[in-house]
Amino acid sequence: MPTCAHIDALESLKAPRAHLCEECVKSKSSWVHLRTCQQCGTTLCCDSSPNKHASAHAGATQHPVIASAEPGEQWLYCYPDDAFAEY
Ligand SMILES: [Zn+2]
Ligand SMILES: [Zn+2]
Ligand SMILES: [Zn+2]
Repeated sequence: MPTCAHIDALESLKAPRAHLCEECVKSKSSWVHLRTCQQCGTTLCCDSSPNKHASAHAGATQHPVIASAEPGEQWLYCYPDDAFAEY
């Protein structure tokens, strides 16, 4: 499956530290799905969530790749390349 240089460069996957959006808990917001940044390990909420913290984090930090933090989902997504990979 063709991916991108960012995903290809990952040697190990970062698991969520806790099953919650680390930004939403600060503002007592809710979320739909969770994603874990593969650069720094922060777990944040998806684009279906009201605050879209994972996208905001990727844009603000230039951390390109997230993994789904949902149980049973095993995929990666790269924001700058719009690349998706299952593992
Ligand atoms: Zn990439
Ligand atoms: Zn959030
Ligand atoms: Zn990050």
